[in-house]
Amino acid sequence: MELTDERKLELMQSAIKQAALSRAEDSRDHPRVGAVLADKEGRELVTAYRGERGTGDHAEFLLLEKAKERGIDPFGCILVVTLEPCTTRGPGKVPCATRIRESGIERVFIGMLDPNPPILGRGETILRWADIAVERFPGFLIKEIERDNARFIQRFKHAHLPESSRYVQTRITEVVTEEIRKSGFIIEGIPMDWDLTLEDVKEFCDAGAPESLRMRLGDILKNARAEAFDRKYENYTYEEDVRGLGLRWRNEIRDLLVSLDAAEYTRRRVIDVGIGNGLEAPRLLDSIRALTIVDIAERSLKRAARILPTARIVQSEAESLGDIESGSQDIYLSFRTYQSSLFDRGQAIREAHRVTRQGGIVLVSVSNGFLGRDGAFVPGHVLPRSSIVDRNRPFELAEEIRRKLSLFRFEGVGVRTGSGEIFIYGRRAR
Ligand SMILES: [Zn+2]
Repeated sequence: MELTDERKLELMQSAIKQAALSRAEDSRDHPRVGAVLADKEGRELVTAYRGERGTGDHAEFLLLEKAKERGIDPFGCILVVTLEPCTTRGPGKVPCATRIRESGIERVFIGMLDPNPPILGRGETILRWADIAVERFPGFLIKEIERDNARFIQRFKHAHLPESSRYVQTRITEVVTEEIRKSGFIIEGIPMDWDLTLEDVKEFCDAGAPESLRMRLGDILKNARAEAFDRKYENYTYEEDVRGLGLRWRNEIRDLLVSLDAAEYTRRRVIDVGIGNGLEAPRLLDSIRALTIVDIAERSLKRAARILPTARIVQSEAESLGDIESGSQDIYLSFRTYQSSLFDRGQAIREAHRVTRQGGIVLVSVSNGFLGRDGAFVPGHVLPRSSIVDRNRPFELAEEIRRKLSLFRFEGVGVRTGSGEIFIYGRRAR
C-alpha cells in the first residue's frame, strides 16, 4: 500500500500533538518538538517529544532510543518531525541529523526549519545528501508549528544574504526604475512590494509626460523589465543556486514527470517559459524533439538558443505568449520564474492554461532558497530592499499558485518540495 496524502497529514498532525507535550529542562525558551516513526505504509510505530524523559533530550534521539528498546528496526521507515533535525550539539553528543542518517530511515517529513543560523537549512541538506527523501509539511501546518514556537523563533534574527550576493546586488525593480527614467519619464514612489506587477508600475510613471512618450509607456516598461532580467541572468551561473549541486534537481523533475504519466516527455510538445540563459537545459531539455523556449531577455535567450539549437525560440513574456497557438503544447514547464519581481502570476497561469492542450500538464516551480558561500542551503526569498531572507515566502507563493491552478480547474493539482525549489503541478481539464 502506498502512503496516501491523507495518511501523511495524519502523521504530521500526530507529530504536532506530540510537540505540544514537550517539556523544557530549564527556564529558557526551547522549541517544542514532536516526532513519529512509521513504517513505509504509514502505520505509526513509535512517538516521542522533546524532554519526554525529564532531561533536554531531543525528540528524534528519544524516538530512536524508544524504537531500540522495543526491538523496532527503523530501516526503511518514515520519520515525521516538527522541527528540522539538529546538525551541531554540545561536546560528546551526536547531532540528530547524523543519527537519522545512520538509522536507515528512508523518508523524512520536516515541519518548521530550525531558525538557529548554524542549523537553518543544514539539517535538511545533510539528509538529502544522504539520499533520504525529504519533504516538508504543507504551509498551513508549518504556520501552526511556528505559532506554537513563537517565543523560541524570536530568539533568532532572520537569515541574511551577503551584500555581495547577486540577489542583493541586482534588484529587478531597481533596474526597471532606472531604465524607465532613462527613457525620459519621471517615476516616483514605487512601493517595494512583493506582489507588484509591471501593470502596477504604470501608475507611478509621470502622468504629465508628453503624449508621445506616454503612448510608448507599455513598450518602455516591457523593455525595461527585459533589460533588468538580462542584466541579472545573462551571465548567470549556479554559484548561488542549488542546481549547481548536480543532477539531483533534474532527477526531481524527471520523477515528477514520471508520476504525471509523462516519462517519455522528450517525445512530446514541450514549452519552457523563462528559460533564462539555458543553464537548466543539458540532460533535461536537450533531447526534447518539439521544444519551444521562451524568455523576455534577449541576450539570455540567445545564449539559450546556442545550447538548444533545434528549439523554437520565442522572445515573449510569460504573461502574453501571443505567438504560441492555443492548445498547442502537451507540457508547459516554467522553473523559478513565477517568483520573479514584477511578475503577474495570475496572467501567466491564464496563458499556461491557454497554450496547453486539454489533458496536458503544467509544471512550474518557485525557488526555495539560495546556496550560501559555504555550500549550505539558505531557504527562503530575499525581502524587497533588504538582504533579509524570509523562509515562509516560497511556501506562501506555492500555495497561491496551487489555488490559481485550481481556479482554472486544473485536475490533480499538487505541490511537492524539492531540494531547492517547490514544484506545483496540474493537468488541464479535458
Ligand atoms: Zn537534535
